[in-house]
Amino acid sequence: MSLKLNRETFIRSISDLLRKAEIELPDDVVEALRKAESREESPVAKFQLQAILKNIELAKKHGVPMCQDTGIMIFYVELGTEFQPGFDLEAAIRDAAVLATREIPLRPNAVDPLTRKNSGDNTGAGIPDIHWELVPGKQLRITVAPKGAGSENMSTLLMLNPTEVGSIKNFVLETVINAGGMPCPPLTLGIGIGGSFDKAARLAKEALLEPLDTPMNEFEKEILEAVNALGIGCMGLGGSTTALAVHVKTAHCHTASLPVAINIQCWANRHASVVFGGEE
Ligand code: SF4
Repeated sequence: MSLKLNRETFIRSISDLLRKAEIELPDDVVEALRKAESREESPVAKFQLQAILKNIELAKKHGVPMCQDTGIMIFYVELGTEFQPGFDLEAAIRDAAVLATREIPLRPNAVDPLTRKNSGDNTGAGIPDIHWELVPGKQLRITVAPKGAGSENMSTLLMLNPTEVGSIKNFVLETVINAGGMPCPPLTLGIGIGGSFDKAARLAKEALLEPLDTPMNEFEKEILEAVNALGIGCMGLGGSTTALAVHVKTAHCHTASLPVAINIQCWANRHASVVFGGEE
């Protein structure tokens, strides 16, 4: 079955999706920040969390991005095998990025890595970063996750020795200590374990899309507790909330490898999704 989509309508929808992601945090993220504020005992950290919540409220009320770093655009596309858009989806997503940059507006963040020349419209070689997945069904689901540099720059990947499974928690703690207040805590930590060098990084980033109210397993809880015991706190100013959640994704890996990637996400855990097409 072919489900035709109008290209102009699609571009407008994706630009609107970007606007939503930049202006409005998902409910589970806001709720996690509210809970952190209510249980925080440090007056400085409590004040910082209240300022973040006020920032979120004002961004939504006035329809402006919640942070000056509007990020680079990362898209996750789940394309149903029975869904046929009838046009080049990748080109249309790029056009939507250009439109959103102009209309919202967004800070043009995409530069050539060597010359540092800015494209001016948040597109360029490999940007937007689009991850494709073919899934059964008649729908097209698109998620956008704008990612700021402050948290991305403090993320790490290590090829551990396979005997070092017990060191993973310490690697996470070292990463968070080194990051300090730079990635704008409270953080969400996406951890990818296994796969290959690049797969581990992809798993870590995908883990950031997990709703924050998803129950954590014992390993995730243990890491979260240890991270929060560090006392780095909201915006690095101390307190009990360095991270809101830890989510781990794993994949089988080579018997001689143990890739571990930690993707750090700041409080502005921005993402939004839209679905096109008929019933699943
Ligand atoms: S780390 Fe996050 S909150 Fe801090 S400046 Fe970057 S995008 Fe904004």
